[in-house]
Amino acid sequence: MSNARYEQGQLRKEAETQLARSRMHLVQSQPGEDLLHELLHELQVHQIELEMQNEELRQSHISLEESRDRYVDLFEFAPICYLSLTGDAMVSEINLTGCILLDVERKQLINRRFSKFFAPKDRDRWHRLFMNMMEQTNFEKQSFDSAMQRADGSLFYAHFNCLRRELVDAQPVLRIVLFDISERKLAEAKLRIAATVFESQEGMLVADANGVITCVNASFTNITGYSAEEVIGKNPHILSSGRHDKYFFTVMWDTIKRTGSWKGEIWNKRKNGAIYPEYLCITAVKDLDGVLQNYVATLTDITMSRKAAEEIQHLAYYDPLTRLPNRRLLMDRLPLAMASSSRTGKRGALLFLDLDNFKTLNDTLGHSSGDSLLKQTALRIEACLREGDTVARLGGDEFIVMLENLSDRPLEAAQQTEIVGKKILGALEQPFQLNAYDYRITISIGATLFSAHQSSIDELLKQADIAMYQAKKSGRNLQRFFDPQMQSSINARAKLEEELHAAIKAGQFKLYYQIQVNGEGTAVGAEALIRWLHPQLGLTPPACFISLAEETGLIVPIGNWVIDVACGQLKAWARNELTQGLTLSVNVSAKQFHQTDFVAQVHSAVERHAINPMLLKLEPTESVLLENIEETVATMNALKAIGIKFALDDFGTGFSSLQYLKKLPLNQLKIDQSFVKDLATDGSDQAMVRTIIAMAHSLNLEVIAEGVETEEQRFLLQSNGCNHFQGYLFGRPIPIAEFEVLLNKT
Ligand code: C2E
Ligand code: CA
Ligand code: CA
Repeated sequence: MSNARYEQGQLRKEAETQLARSRMHLVQSQPGEDLLHELLHELQVHQIELEMQNEELRQSHISLEESRDRYVDLFEFAPICYLSLTGDAMVSEINLTGCILLDVERKQLINRRFSKFFAPKDRDRWHRLFMNMMEQTNFEKQSFDSAMQRADGSLFYAHFNCLRRELVDAQPVLRIVLFDISERKLAEAKLRIAATVFESQEGMLVADANGVITCVNASFTNITGYSAEEVIGKNPHILSSGRHDKYFFTVMWDTIKRTGSWKGEIWNKRKNGAIYPEYLCITAVKDLDGVLQNYVATLTDITMSRKAAEEIQHLAYYDPLTRLPNRRLLMDRLPLAMASSSRTGKRGALLFLDLDNFKTLNDTLGHSSGDSLLKQTALRIEACLREGDTVARLGGDEFIVMLENLSDRPLEAAQQTEIVGKKILGALEQPFQLNAYDYRITISIGATLFSAHQSSIDELLKQADIAMYQAKKSGRNLQRFFDPQMQSSINARAKLEEELHAAIKAGQFKLYYQIQVNGEGTAVGAEALIRWLHPQLGLTPPACFISLAEETGLIVPIGNWVIDVACGQLKAWARNELTQGLTLSVNVSAKQFHQTDFVAQVHSAVERHAINPMLLKLEPTESVLLENIEETVATMNALKAIGIKFALDDFGTGFSSLQYLKKLPLNQLKIDQSFVKDLATDGSDQAMVRTIIAMAHSLNLEVIAEGVETEEQRFLLQSNGCNHFQGYLFGRPIPIAEFEVLLNKT
């Protein structure tokens, strides 16, 4: 502009010099011509002035153009968004930055409603603000923040500055300046989160690069007892418990230097002097150039979680009743013991302890007495052990004792184990106080030795268990050692069990018949005795398989088979005059007798074969009948009602009283063969036999002696009043064909 003025000034000077020169020239001419010259001159001056004015105009036009361009550039490329809205909130203009910010082309913005660029949640607020601004009359600037939404749905935060104006034609317009403040908002949110986190459950401590505390949170105060004022400016050493040595802290700071952080458990001291466990995490904070600025420590008081962890550990590994280790803990310790045995060469032992008849006590005295007994037992067992030995309760009335560091020689180790076992047996023999009564128990112990990895844990436990059963079988209150022979007989038993299953289906059982005679030697009946025709072992006596059949429950189908065959035999005998009066005795085992459908089974066999039930005699033993007296009497009476007879087998070996015998609907007592055997020589057996016979007579029962092998025995029995006999003297148990031959001879 100033340049243009300067140029104009120069031009004007040149024009004036020119005019002065022509005036000099005119003064020297004639007067008529003078006026003409003057006019011409005036004209010329006018023309120059006009030209100058033109030039001035052109120049100002140029500068106007330039400033408009400048304005447009400034408007379009300003780093913030400018826009104007009409009175009905339509966009009337917007700069390029605004279009870029909203991510829309200008033509799609002009004359469109601006509200659609607000995030839905802020739209209502925008409407209210807009209405307010348009109604106001004082033209004051308004500012606010709002969440915005671009055409593609993405969100950003904007800060608004708005000014209502009135155009020349009095139309209202809202001028808006807005800019993206998303980053600021994000930073604010982060700060808010950081502030919340800082005031969290965990204690926090911030120290400067020199380790001087600059700030702590409320949880820090709760945990340590120190207020912020008391610790700011101090060193965290004031929390030191003195439980960690220098080395601990050297390692800690080394780790922080190397890796930037350290975490772990540490003992610290509260303001009141109490020492507590804490989980500590220290992080070094560096600036962008990697220069250490601060340390931030988070600390958690783990006193409670420690306690809880200990409690959980206890629950998981200890028996709540006796507080002894449980099976799981034993299973954890056993491999360690075995490993240690492999290092030292020393042997260990496992003792399996089982209280005898605990179930009966529990049922009769009640569970709280049972619990009390188990607790006292646990204490007594513990008292018999050395430190380092383990006693665990497996559950119920089963305990396991694990001994370690025994001799490296097996025999010596076994002796050492036996001593401990005997000590335990002795300790448990002393009476227990239960409900103010003295109560005595016995215990069976099975023991097995172990050394380095010689057997698996399961095997070891099994061995101890087997030995314990052996102890029980051998009469209880005993200790038995496992030995491999025991194992092989166990294996053989398992095999036999399998074969026994198959035997029923394969029809490998047979009944043998042993004759029973009266005082005159005349046959009155027989006892049916089972035999197993084993495919490999040949004829197998019942002693080899009846107890196994009892244990496995196979005795039930076997017993039913026996009754069925016996009834079939009675039916066959009924057809023959010689045999139609013979009775047939059948042995019944406890399991079979106590089956709920036993009466029905017998009844159906009697019906099926249509026999005279009076000729079928069931032979339970005393122990069978002792089991549940009420039920037994009911069963027997039900069978008696059908007509079935009863003989009491092995009489004299049990403990039944006269009182008890009276209740049973018996027909016959069978003197056990053990009394008959030494009858001729043993005075006490003679006394016994006499008593039994007298008892039978007083109860109005028939009496029969079994195992009669000699004439002398028969004579002694007969002279004491026994009139029925069974034994090798009259005939062995034999197959039916042979039996019928024998009958014809007697
Ligand atoms: P038990 O009922 O006491 O049978 C008598 C046992 O004495 C029979 O042995 C018989 O052969 C034997 N015996 C008979 N007379 C004499 C003799 O003069 N001297 C000697 N030394 N022994 C004699 P067995 O047949 O080996 O039967 C043994 C046991 O097996 C029976 O004892 C019985 O308890 C059981 N049993 C046999 N058959 C059956 C059955 O079918 N069912 C059930 N549950 N048990 C049976
Ligand atoms: Ca018998
Ligand atoms: Ca017998």
